[in-house]
Amino acid sequence: MVIAGGGIAGLTAALASARLGRKTLVLTGDVLGGLLLSIDKVEGFPGFADGIPGYDLCPMVQEQAMGAGAEFATTSLDGLERRDDTWRIASDNDRVLARTLILATGSTLRQLGVPGEARLHGKGVSQCASCDAPLVRNRPVAVVGGGDSALQEALTLAETSSRVTVLVRGEKLAAQQAYRNRVAAQPRIEIRHNTVVEEILGADKVSGVRIRDASRGAAIDLEVAALFVYIGLQPNTAFLNGQIKLEPSGRIPVDGRMQTELRGVFAAGIVRSGSAGRAAASAGDGTAAAVAADRYLTDGVW
Ligand SMILES: Cc1cc2nc3c(=O)[nH]c(=O)nc-3n(C[C@H](O)[C@H](O)[C@H](O)COP(=O)(O)OP(=O)(O)OC[C@H]3O[C@@H](n4cnc5c(N)ncnc54)[C@H](O)[C@@H]3O)c2cc1C
Repeated sequence: MVIAGGGIAGLTAALASARLGRKTLVLTGDVLGGLLLSIDKVEGFPGFADGIPGYDLCPMVQEQAMGAGAEFATTSLDGLERRDDTWRIASDNDRVLARTLILATGSTLRQLGVPGEARLHGKGVSQCASCDAPLVRNRPVAVVGGGDSALQEALTLAETSSRVTVLVRGEKLAAQQAYRNRVAAQPRIEIRHNTVVEEILGADKVSGVRIRDASRGAAIDLEVAALFVYIGLQPNTAFLNGQIKLEPSGRIPVDGRMQTELRGVFAAGIVRSGSAGRAAASAGDGTAAAVAADRYLTDGVW
């Protein structure tokens, strides 16, 4: 069984597959841990009432999977090709034959695509609040987005920054009530609705952000030392090269057993259609996909 993806879905699939006695190889992509790697406090994961850092959780699951016999390679899946009843899997530097494949390649945080963003990336434009919060201690920062990730990271930043302005394009926050309540109770966080980011300002590091209030129409410059962008996710599926018809969102359609339209290929985690988007859901998907793949290898029924 080959598993593409070293996030919580791939790691949990590897654990379940190895425990079922399957020869298991995980292609982790660039870095093990996926999105959780940069999250200081993963909330709502069963067993950790006070939360757990993602960079602790993922190596724990990897160790458990390795203990059960799974092997890991720090490489990316580049393409797949059907050979009789196996899949020929191409990665950066190797070819592997697999009888079944679990796609757990997750998603990448979207970028704004405004002037200044690419130039100032790593110089104040960030998508990792816990990594970069210490660099902007006691200084004003802004967060773009109104979903769970944006508010969660705004709360992290409010612990050390002097002021956190959350820039929300629409009139409402999409985040769950628990985060909305905590943000409302945090005096250092201010929410600006109907606000669009037009440009990120600064010569060699971020000094501000040009925003436009949709209702009043005038652009203003907001002074900030950093801008954190959490405006949604782009599923990592480019390597499929059209081999699977994707949803309009870019996610991989699956049935209740995580089966894709390709025989022997499953998908798990936030890359699959209908994902609940939380870490525990991705972990559950990984187990479900591995169990279904094991059954498929045993009985050959698709
Ligand atoms: C800011 C933020 C805060 C969050 N906080 C929480 C929280 O508190 N609680 C919670 O439950 N959830 C939280 N989430 C959601 C959680 O991070 C995700 O649900 C979960 O990490 C998804 O796991 P995944 O394994 O499906 O995908 P990912 O984490 O995206 O992992 C995908 C993996 O696939 C690899 N990969 C990509 N392309 C390839 C390829 N071609 N070949 C091989 N490997 C590849 C990547 O390197 C990565 O290792 C948060 C998300 C964000 C962005």
